[in-house]
Amino acid sequence: MLPPESASALGAFLRAHRRTEAEWMVSDTHNPGRGSRECVVCAEPWPCTEVRQLAAQWEGLAGWRPEWLAS
Ligand SMILES: [Zn+2]
Repeated sequence: MLPPESASALGAFLRAHRRTEAEWMVSDTHNPGRGSRECVVCAEPWPCTEVRQLAAQWEGLAGWRPEWLAS
């Protein structure tokens, strides 16, 4: 599980880099539920597999954190 600060940084990173409709869809829908740390779509601990795959393509860009893939 990511610390809350890192999770919110990941959310902001995805919103800053998403371009395609598919990227928007994943970043808009694959989010933790209210009061939960699980993805509401996958029911996996967030970041779920889809979010990690989305983030992975921007590895190395400014603001990137390796901890996002390790969780
Ligand atoms: Zn998900």
